Amino acid sequence: MATAAPLLAGCNPGKNTHVVVIGAGAAGLWATQLLINKGFRVTFLEASDRYGGRILANTSLADYPVELGAEEVHGADSVLYSMCQDANAKFVEAATEDHFWMADGDGTVALRDESVLETDDVLAAAARFIDDLTDWDGDDVTVSARLDAVGIADRARFLVEAQVGNEYGSDNDHVGARSLAEGDAEWTSGSANYALADASMLSLIELACPDSREQVQLGAAVTSLQYSDGSVNATLADGSSVSADYAIVTVPLGVLKAGKITFDPPLSDAKQSAISAVGFGSGMKIIVTFSERFWPDDLGSLYGAEHAPEVWAPGLGRSGNPLELTAFVMGAKADALSAVALAGGADAAIDLILADLDLIFEGAATRAFVAGLLQDWTQEPFILGSYSFPSPGSTELRADLARVEGRVHFAGEATHRTGMYGTVHGALETGERAVQEILDRLGDD
Ligand SMILES: Cc1cc2nc3c(=O)[nH]c(=O)nc-3n(C[C@H](O)[C@H](O)[C@H](O)COP(=O)(O)OP(=O)(O)OC[C@H]3O[C@@H](n4cnc5c(N)ncnc54)[C@H](O)[C@@H]3O)c2cc1C
Repeated sequence: MATAAPLLAGCNPGKNTHVVVIGAGAAGLWATQLLINKGFRVTFLEASDRYGGRILANTSLADYPVELGAEEVHGADSVLYSMCQDANAKFVEAATEDHFWMADGDGTVALRDESVLETDDVLAAAARFIDDLTDWDGDDVTVSARLDAVGIADRARFLVEAQVGNEYGSDNDHVGARSLAEGDAEWTSGSANYALADASMLSLIELACPDSREQVQLGAAVTSLQYSDGSVNATLADGSSVSADYAIVTVPLGVLKAGKITFDPPLSDAKQSAISAVGFGSGMKIIVTFSERFWPDDLGSLYGAEHAPEVWAPGLGRSGNPLELTAFVMGAKADALSAVALAGGADAAIDLILADLDLIFEGAATRAFVAGLLQDWTQEPFILGSYSFPSPGSTELRADLARVEGRVHFAGEATHRTGMYGTVHGALETGERAVQEILDRLGDD
């Protein structure tokens, strides 16, 4: 599903049909745009005071938009990549080298460059373990259980934690090894990752969704959805309500898990089981700006810090003088930092990232510290986490998450049925799928 051409073109089959779309992230913005293109009447409701959902950039920290949520375009065969092309977006082309803060066999801890993968057998075994995970077709045990079974040494596990558990929006204790492999086998957008050189992620979506972003009603939190054979009725937190022929619910899985929207009649047992069983992890980014660069100029990812499994320089290839680092923290480590921030303020969590960096760079982080920003997605009241992840046994449950309930359709990244959950292009595709579902049933209802 690389482009939405069939849905962008054509007549107005939706002319006499009213759809309420709930949630204005990538899925909702794109679904609404496609509905408008097809002549539907759309009421577009967003609970927070902005559209974009888990796509959000800060424009004051640096001389380029620093992404606080989605940052990379995953693969060149997707509707998102097509949007990049339509926007003439340029990608970062900087050469980078990953670095590893790790102990060697003698216990000496140091910062090592990629050549360590050739000299340290234990780290090389961890890297092979990561490559081999996508072939795993045994029991759907956690990645941690696979690490134990394969016998990956403790001192190399930080790499698997960063590149698997953390990368998938959780941690190795919660990601299912076979579910991960099953999702990977269905991934079709391509394996290259692209960082935008000058555009922000949201600007791409804005360009592709000119009508829907005009139409969104902000501060419109839906609290309940009544549906029958003939219509749907959405009730908002302020007591007002909207009746329509169909609804598309695109809210994050965390919001459904928390029961923030009441469904009447209740959702099917299958849907409710899927909502509770598919994983949705905690997650945050901490952006820190400095007065000077103390890390390698070509830093790709830095792995091995205690509190931040992965750190990178978001301005590399985007700024003439990039002075920011992004700490990307998911799962249990994000929960721990959230607790620190809730108890002592965001600065207390930022201090822990500085302490990590001071240890690696001999106090340089604190000396050069200018400002920090904590974007804790788990504490966002209408997000409640990072993104869905392949918890054990979750592969088949994605179809239940996506399944239509009466006149209520479901979209949003977690409902992607073929592996591209947890991504922007996956979310866009689910919005497109939900619109197609409504188009398909128009003649039947
Ligand atoms: C830290 C981080 C890094 C990421 N990095 C990448 C990346 O590099 N590349 C990538 O492709 N993806 C990345 N992702 C994932 C990507 O951001 C998401 O998969 C995608 O943006 C989700 O879009 P969505 O429309 O499904 O949900 P959302 O963007 O969450 O939109 C749902 C909307 O529903 C609204 N809502 C919630 N409750 C209600 C209610 N009751 N009534 C009305 N509205 C409501 C919310 O406010 C929100 O705006 C990242 C995510 C995070 C958190």
